[in-house]
Amino acid sequence: MANIAFIGLGNMGGPMAINLVKSGHQVCVFDLSEQAVASVVEHGASTQTDASACVKGAEFIITMLPAGKHVEAVYLGENGLINHIASGALVIDSSTIDAQTSRKVAAVLSEKGINFIDAPVSGGVGGATAGTLSFMVGGSETDFNNAKAVLDNMGKNIFHAGDHGAGQIAKVCNNMMLSVLMVGTSEALQLGIANGLDPAVLSNIMNKSSGGNWTLDVYNPCPGVMENVPSSNNYQGGFMVDLMAKDLGLAMDTAVNSQSSTPMGSLARSLYAMHAAAGNGGKDFSSIFNLFNKI
Ligand code: NAD
Repeated sequence: MANIAFIGLGNMGGPMAINLVKSGHQVCVFDLSEQAVASVVEHGASTQTDASACVKGAEFIITMLPAGKHVEAVYLGENGLINHIASGALVIDSSTIDAQTSRKVAAVLSEKGINFIDAPVSGGVGGATAGTLSFMVGGSETDFNNAKAVLDNMGKNIFHAGDHGAGQIAKVCNNMMLSVLMVGTSEALQLGIANGLDPAVLSNIMNKSSGGNWTLDVYNPCPGVMENVPSSNNYQGGFMVDLMAKDLGLAMDTAVNSQSSTPMGSLARSLYAMHAAAGNGGKDFSSIFNLFNKI
């Protein structure tokens, strides 16, 4: 069993840290929110007054923070964790951030003999709680293999995408495609409804035909077609529009950096930004369905 420091105990980090405790690891947790810390400590984790005390002696340091600026500040900022992590330890950053920041943090940490992988996740809060996340890892083969035993306690599918930053690139590619599938599925369902079709019947037809995709399989955006999905719960829970908009922003930055054409992703980003600006940022991302509502 390993000595692990876990920093960032929000919607995702909290349940991920709890799964590590349940697997028998010694886990020291820290978050700026005392309430977030308490909710993991009650499951058996320990805590300290600050993150730097938590990482002392840790073999693995896991972060699950909102954005690149938080990750850079936590590791490389004033009195950053770089000054407190033991040489030879492995940092696992599971936040969804830009690949450049991941590469920069990896390079600076390596100067102190600290290993790093970017390991963003897919699977949402449900996957974090159930321990069934997908991890997309960027880093060396050795670090990937060393991290696997820990990641296995929080996820079901652990992929090695390539060198530093590759995990983040895989994550934005996946979420860009998901957004396009969700928008396309929504407009096709609304077209059918506007022309007299029952959305459940149309969903079944498309899913067993060439239009079949993940959203029709497990995440239908039309209320009432599926039970236990956000669309049938007033678009509450699930994956927020604001987070999808953030990930699409990262995808667009990635496209600009590599001079790639991403017309579908670009349109999806605009639609999600518009949907968020209309006051839907806190709803599940399948609520984009309502953008095409004729009523
Ligand atoms: P969240 O806002 O719920 O949690 C972030 C936590 O980080 C908060 O508890 C905050 O207090 C803490 N934090 C911020 N700065 C800190 C600091 N300097 N030191 C210690 N703690 C600090 O966010 P989340 O939903 O858990 O998402 C975390 C990351 O995972 C994001 O990058 C997000 O894009 C990604 N992600 C989220 C989901 C999802 O469904 N929520 C799915 C996949 C990936």
